Parts: sequence; structure tokens; C-alpha cells
Amino acid sequence: MTDPARTEMTGKVALSDTEWRAKLTPEQYRITRQHGTERAGSSPLNGEKRRGMFQCVCCGAPLFSSLAKFDSGTGWPSFDRPLEETAVSEHADRSLFVQRTEVRCARCEAHLGHVFADGPHATTGLRYCINGAALSFKPEDKLEGA
Ligand SMILES: [Zn+2]
Repeated sequence: MTDPARTEMTGKVALSDTEWRAKLTPEQYRITRQHGTERAGSSPLNGEKRRGMFQCVCCGAPLFSSLAKFDSGTGWPSFDRPLEETAVSEHADRSLFVQRTEVRCARCEAHLGHVFADGPHATTGLRYCINGAALSFKPEDKLEGA
């Protein structure tokens, strides 16, 4: 009855530190596994305007649709909502002496960025400020079955 492939698709992904290091570039590792932040404007995904899906660079989980992307002018890819509420998890972060809300991939706990309440008023009012290095982009014409 249990389909192993399906379990792997829906279950959590938990690799050891060594395994993540081997799988990711040093910059991807620093940001997603050590809660780093990329330099503003450094990600090529800032200017990505094609339709498609932004996926977790660590585990491939679909996280943000291009339809939710907007130009925030901050230098980080910004979205007004995750693909699904369950795609990301949110955690209180006091590391800069201000209350911020950290956003992680719900499947593998990768640090993605933070969510702020200064997003577009016309939609959700939220701004998911995400490190481009935590994402990989799949253009719509390369998505299977979408
Ligand atoms: Zn992930």
C-alpha cells in the first residue's frame, strides 16, 4: 500500500550537515543551513519575470509562484504569499534585536528569508523577502503537468 516515492515526496527531508554541504554551493549552504543573508541585489532571480515556480534549492519543494512575485525594490526576490500556507513555516526571530518573522521551507527547514507586513495593500499586505540563493526557478514551460 505504501508507495515509497510518494512518502518521500510528501514527508520531511532531513539530511545531515555533511550531506547538505555536499549537495549545496557554499553560498547556498551559508544561507539556507546557517541562516545567512545574501547581499542585496546579488541574486539573478531579482529580475526574473517569466512565469513559473520558485522551488526550495535544498529539497525542490515548490514554494512561490511567479504570480506572487512583485518588485519591492529591496534587492531581494519578494512575494506577497507562499504557494500554499503549508509550503513554508514561520518562526519568531529576535537575532537583530527587533522582532522579525523568519520563513523556512516546511519540508526541509531551509532558511529562506523573512516576512514583513509592508507588502502590497492591494493583495495580502505581506512581503516575503526571500534570498534568491535559497531558491531555484523553473520556467513554466519546463514544469511537468502544470
Ligand atoms: Zn526545502
